[in-house]
Amino acid sequence: METLRKTLEQADANRVAIGHFNISDLVALKAVFEAARELKVPVIVGASEGERQFMGARQVAALVKSLREEHDFPIFLNADHTHSLPSAMEAAKAGFDWIVFDVSTLPFEENVRQTKAAVEALKSVRPDILVEGEIGDIGSGSEIHDAAPELQKGLTSPAQAKQFVQETRVDTLAPAVGNMHGMLKSMVAGDVKKRLDIERIRTIKAAVPIFMTLHGASGTDDDDLREAIAVGITVVHINTEVRLAWRGGFDSALAKQPNEIVPYKLLPPVVDSVKRAVAARLTLFSGGRRRVRSA
Ligand SMILES: [Zn+2]
Repeated sequence: METLRKTLEQADANRVAIGHFNISDLVALKAVFEAARELKVPVIVGASEGERQFMGARQVAALVKSLREEHDFPIFLNADHTHSLPSAMEAAKAGFDWIVFDVSTLPFEENVRQTKAAVEALKSVRPDILVEGEIGDIGSGSEIHDAAPELQKGLTSPAQAKQFVQETRVDTLAPAVGNMHGMLKSMVAGDVKKRLDIERIRTIKAAVPIFMTLHGASGTDDDDLREAIAVGITVVHINTEVRLAWRGGFDSALAKQPNEIVPYKLLPPVVDSVKRAVAARLTLFSGGRRRVRSA
């Protein structure tokens, strides 16, 4: 089994990206795993602090580990947007492969100081764990927003990225490059797509030769995603699209079976709906190529 770091190195070298999908339950986990297995591509599932609180950090870690071991398949687990060191340590001890340590709302110098301390503390517990830092403003909440936040001022500069990475020694960087958490109503309808600052991604990648993660990618223009991956994005986070598919699948399951009370009869359409959304993104991120030989 390849390690997460090796998996990212291969993706980076091949100019493809690994998909990261947030989950809140076993239904979404099944869907993400099945989609990745059928496409034979590695995959990352993410659980934010809220999602971990619902599922239990140790419980979701045990589920992902059991899938990885039983199927000898590269599925990894990320502690998404972790806002404090105790919460990050809890996830590290529970067996998460990766921690997104996000104190990006703090002033830059304080963000550097706290992220550096988190990298040192987390690596002392688990030397192999990956730690991601975040600079700039990409909004918060993978939900449907009424209005777009003002993100133009919070874009990441290559100089700031370089200083941040050198001082904190993070393994991966989450920049603000036109991406945004959540989706607008117009994006759910498909009328409007998020657009990315491709030149900014290219120059940041040239300034900091580490892995870069694109957060808040739901509703992004397909060609922008392809270009972003071609110039240096190695992992793409999708959450809102997964949630929309979950809700849509559940609504139609209830409409079709209004009297059904058996969860394992109601929930398979939800798995299918999420699986289709995940498979579409994985296909795009992997450039249509298949990467896992053992599965
Ligand atoms: Zn995010």
